Amino acid sequence: MSDLSLVLLAGGNSSRFGMGVRKQWLRIDQTPLWLHVARTFESMGIFEKIVITAHPDDVLYAQNHTAHTVVAAGKERQDSLKNALSHIDTPYVMVSDVARACVTPALIHRIIAAKEQADCIVSFLPIWDTVVYDDATIAREKLKIIQTPQLSKTHILKKALQSETIFTDDSSAIVAFGGTRAFVEGEEGAHKITRAADLLKLPCITPPSNKVLVGNGYDVHAFQEGKPMVLGGIGMPLLPYGFKAHSDGDVAIHALIDAILGAAGMDDIGTLFPDTDAAYADIDSKKLLSHVMTRITQVGFELGNVDITIVAQQPKIAPHKRDMRASLSALLSLPLERVNVKATTTEGLGFTGRKEGVAVIATATLYYTNWTHA
Ligand code: MG
Repeated sequence: MSDLSLVLLAGGNSSRFGMGVRKQWLRIDQTPLWLHVARTFESMGIFEKIVITAHPDDVLYAQNHTAHTVVAAGKERQDSLKNALSHIDTPYVMVSDVARACVTPALIHRIIAAKEQADCIVSFLPIWDTVVYDDATIAREKLKIIQTPQLSKTHILKKALQSETIFTDDSSAIVAFGGTRAFVEGEEGAHKITRAADLLKLPCITPPSNKVLVGNGYDVHAFQEGKPMVLGGIGMPLLPYGFKAHSDGDVAIHALIDAILGAAGMDDIGTLFPDTDAAYADIDSKKLLSHVMTRITQVGFELGNVDITIVAQQPKIAPHKRDMRASLSALLSLPLERVNVKATTTEGLGFTGRKEGVAVIATATLYYTNWTHA
């Protein structure tokens, strides 16, 4: 039993990063940044419990990657921290930020060694440059750049965070609450990253793997008289039937969504968009696909190519293949040549042969986002 737990704050939205990706999901080789950082701490074997905050949309997906506790981040850093602390009951808690990507065991030990000195132990960097404030040169030796990790007495930090004031770090909350703070020298490697390519300047970081991930999807829908036919992202207004479904029934897009989710290791369409949810009644499946594209981009993937096989005795697919490819290419932001649509019959056999419905098989490949130029 250790008296110390860790909170790793990794739930930011990273809008400054561009590329649509949240920085905590950039891959270090094949490992998400947040997990890479968590493993540095974990490898030391000194934490009773590790609690990681994730963007609310990413909690379930993050839980697929780790046995540690993953909780939803809140609106402010402080809200996230409060959520995480509610899972911690050790006397001490260390809090670190995922943007401090290369924290070393040496720094962590240095902070822990000082734990009796105050209610909160803070790592900092001194300033060596001349600093001018409002036209006056100020005493730089009095300045400190505050970093994480910080080590706090858990019960004091919990109380200090009950304040209405928004604090940008734990030590400020504890000092405002009347607690004490002590400093230990931090390290350059614990510098906060603000641009993706800055990561490469850090000693513990390697570029993302160029491995390809593949996923498959399969879906079937029966025909329904009088419903508009949509397939492969296009309408076929001349047909007297469409697909029986909770959504618009675009069986090709459903299979494609499952292929993309499969490659990302992100469960399936039914989990993401339950057909018990009224929000998805008669929904345009193109909207579901766009949502999935946003999600995989946020968690650090780029689409490689997609390939779809439509198994149908009717309607005739061949005259529509080009339009389907064009529609999907736009939805997926993929060049036309990386979107393939094939069609086959089953020679009159089975439910497709009896013209009762259509089956679709889809394949998609994903790459990890190449952040090294961003
Ligand atoms: Mg379906």
